[in-house]
Amino acid sequence: MPQKAPSTTTSSKSATSNDPALVPVQYVKGVGPRLAAVLARRDIKTVMDLLYFFPRAYEDRTTAKTLAQAVEGEKATFALTSLGGRKIVFRGGKSVLEVRAQDETGTISLKWFHGHASLIDRYHAGVDMMVTGVPKKYMGRLEIIHPEITSGEVSLESATRDFGRIIPVYVEIEGIPTRTLRKILWEAISKYGASAKDDLPPYLREARKLPALYESLTQIHFPDESTQVSSDLHVDFKSPWHQRLIYEEFFKFEYLVLKERGHAQKDKAPLITKERGAETLAGILPKLPFELTGDQKKVLDQMLDEISAGIPINRLIQGDVGSGKTIVALLICAVIMKSGGQCALMAPTEILAEQHLKSALKFFGFLLGPNFRIELLTGRAKNQDRERIAAVLASGTPTLMIGTHALIEDWVKFKQLDLLIVDEQHRFGVDQRRKLKDKGVRDNGKLVPHRVVLSATPIPRTLALTLYGELSVSTIKEKPPGRKPIKTHIVLDAKRGHAFSKIRDEIAKGRQAYFISPLIEQSEAEGFDHLRSATETAQKLSTEVFPNLRIGLLHGQMTSDQKEEIMGRFKNGLIDVLVSTTVVEVGVDVPNATVMAIDHAERFGLSQLHQLRGRVGRGEHASFCFLFTHPRVGEETLTRLKIMERTEDGFEVAEADLKARGPGEFLGTRQSGDLPFKVADLVRDQDILFAAREDAAKILEQDPDLQDSKHLALRNFLDREGKTQGALFRTS
Ligand code: ADP
Ligand code: MG
Repeated sequence: MPQKAPSTTTSSKSATSNDPALVPVQYVKGVGPRLAAVLARRDIKTVMDLLYFFPRAYEDRTTAKTLAQAVEGEKATFALTSLGGRKIVFRGGKSVLEVRAQDETGTISLKWFHGHASLIDRYHAGVDMMVTGVPKKYMGRLEIIHPEITSGEVSLESATRDFGRIIPVYVEIEGIPTRTLRKILWEAISKYGASAKDDLPPYLREARKLPALYESLTQIHFPDESTQVSSDLHVDFKSPWHQRLIYEEFFKFEYLVLKERGHAQKDKAPLITKERGAETLAGILPKLPFELTGDQKKVLDQMLDEISAGIPINRLIQGDVGSGKTIVALLICAVIMKSGGQCALMAPTEILAEQHLKSALKFFGFLLGPNFRIELLTGRAKNQDRERIAAVLASGTPTLMIGTHALIEDWVKFKQLDLLIVDEQHRFGVDQRRKLKDKGVRDNGKLVPHRVVLSATPIPRTLALTLYGELSVSTIKEKPPGRKPIKTHIVLDAKRGHAFSKIRDEIAKGRQAYFISPLIEQSEAEGFDHLRSATETAQKLSTEVFPNLRIGLLHGQMTSDQKEEIMGRFKNGLIDVLVSTTVVEVGVDVPNATVMAIDHAERFGLSQLHQLRGRVGRGEHASFCFLFTHPRVGEETLTRLKIMERTEDGFEVAEADLKARGPGEFLGTRQSGDLPFKVADLVRDQDILFAAREDAAKILEQDPDLQDSKHLALRNFLDREGKTQGALFRTS
C-alpha cells in the first residue's frame, strides 16, 4: 500500500494566489457552501485556518489485523469481505442493520442502529472493505457497532489516506464526519501547503532546531512512515513537527502578551516617594500583633519600588489560604491613603468583604480621621449609606472603599482612585474587573490606578504566565510562624466511625468542625443517586451520629441573610458541626475550627480540596482533614487523593491537579476559555513554553519595532492578525 504523504510538488502559479492565508476555505476541493458555513462557525475561514486545525489525537492504522488477532475493546482495522447484510426489526419497532463479513481467520457482525437501509446495498456480498472499529463479543460472537468502513469501490486515494498509516483524529465538528475532514485537509495540504508563509524568524528555527512550516503541517496531519520517526512520538505529540508547531503557537502568544505588558508598563500611575511610603509603614508595623514574614516583606518592597518609580503596580499576589496576603494588600492601601489617594478593595462575597473591613480596622483603625476613612459597600447598603459613600468618594477624602460587586455600580465614582485590589480575582469576569479599573483612569487615560490581584488558588507558573501575562507574579510561600500542620487522612466509607469519634473528641475539647457535601439535596439523577447530600447528612448527624451536638446547615440555595446568620452562629461558637456545600470554600476565617471532613472527596478537584482544607489550621490548635471516599472509585482516584495526604503545599497540589485534569478542568469553565492554544498543552509542553517566552522577550528587547530584516516574517504576522489577537490577552 502506498505510504506517501500528500504530493509535495509545488504549483507553478504565483505564490500569492495560492497563499493559504488569503484563499477562502471554499476553494478547497470538497468544501461546498454548506461545509464552508459549518467551518466558519469554528472560525475556519481561510485555507490557512484549516491547515491550523490540528488533529486532537492519532490512530495507528499502520498494520491491519486479522479477525483472529482482534482484541475486545481495542480499536483496530481489518481487511474484510462482505457476506451480505439484513435489517433486523425488533418488537416495538426498533431496528438494526447488520452486515456479516469475513477474512481468512473468521467472521464478524457489523451493526448500525440508526443506519440508512442503503448500507445493505452498498456492502453487498462480495464487496472488499477496510473496517475500523472496536470489536466486542456479543452472545459469543464478534461484532463492531458503528464501524468506519471504506469499501473496495472507494478510490485508491482514500486507501492511502485512511489506512496503512497513522491517521489523524480531529475534534468533532458537528455535521462533518472525520473522514471528510481528513479528505479536505489532504486536499488543502496538497494544493496550498507549500505556499504557506512561515511566521517564525528563520534564525530562531535554526537555533531551536525546528523543521520548516510546510513539512510540519504535512507531517502533523498525515504522518509519513518513511521518516524514521517512531509512531509513538507522533501519537504523543512529541515529533519534531509537533514541537515546531507548538513552539510557534507559544511564541506568537508570548510575543503578544509581552508586548501588551510593555505597553502597560509605559502607563503612568500615581507616584509616592520611597521615604513617604516607609514613613507610613513605620507608623503601622510596630503596632501589628505580629511581624511580617520574609515573603510578605519582599512583596511589599516590590510594590513600594514600583510606586516610587511611578509605574503601575500590576501584580498578582498568590499564596495559600492563610499565608497572609490580605495584610500586605492592606498595607499598600495605607501607604496610598496617607499620601492622599483613594483605594478600592473588591471581594467576591459579603462575608469576605466584612472580614477585610475587620482586618483593616484591626491593623490600622487608629489612623481613622478626617483624612483616613474606611467604608464598606455591599448589596445590602441602605440609601443613606450610599449617599454618604457617594459624597465621601466625590470629595476625594482618602478612603479605603471595601465592598462586593456593588463597587462596580455606576453611581460609585471616585475622585482619585489610586489603587484597586481584587480579592479572588478569578471569581470576577473580565468586564467587571475592567469596569472597576476604569473608575481610576484619569487625564484621558494618561494616568492609571495601581492594581493588585490576590489569589488563594495557587496557579502553576505555566498557567500564571499565560493567563495573567501582563501581570507580575509574586508568591507568598512562607507561612506565618506558629501554624500547626493539618493531618490529612483518606477515610474509606467503612471506617467513617473512627473519623466521627475523632470529631467528637475535638468538639469535647471545645473545637468545631466542618462537614462538606457535594450536593445540597439527594438527587435522583444518574451518576448522583448514590451521593449523600448536605441536607440528608445534617439530618443524620443530628439524629444518629452526634445527637448531643449542635449541627448547622449551610448551602447556596439559602438567602444571603440565612447564610450570614448561620456563618455568624458558627463563628460565635453556637454551632459545633457545620454541614455545608462548597459555599464555605472561599476565605472564611474561623480559627477555632479544627476538623474539615469532606464527603465523597473523589468528586472534588485537588485544588478545591486544598481550598477547603485551608478553612482549618488557622488557629493555635492542631487540625485534621478527613477525605471520605469508597474503594470503588478506583486506583487512579485514590492515588490522586493521596497527594493530599502527602503535602500541604498548595503549589504542589496545584501542579498535581493540573497534571491530572489538564488546564481546562483545572481552571474551570470560566477561565478555560481564556486559553487560546490549539496544539500546545501547558502541562506536556512546559519546556517549549519557557523557551518560546525567552525568545520572544529577547526580540522585544533587542528589536522592539521589528526593524531588522530578520524579523520581517514576524512583522507580517503582526500586521495580519497581531492586533486582534493581542487584544484577547489583556486580562483587564
Ligand atoms: P490570606 O489572605 O492569604 O488567606 P490572611 O491575610 O487572611 O491570609 O492571613 C491569615 C491570618 O494570619 C490572619 O489572621 C492574619 O492576621 C494572620 N497573619 C498574617 N500575616 C501574619 C504574620 N506574618 N504572622 C502571623 N500572623 C499573620
Ligand atoms: Mg484571603
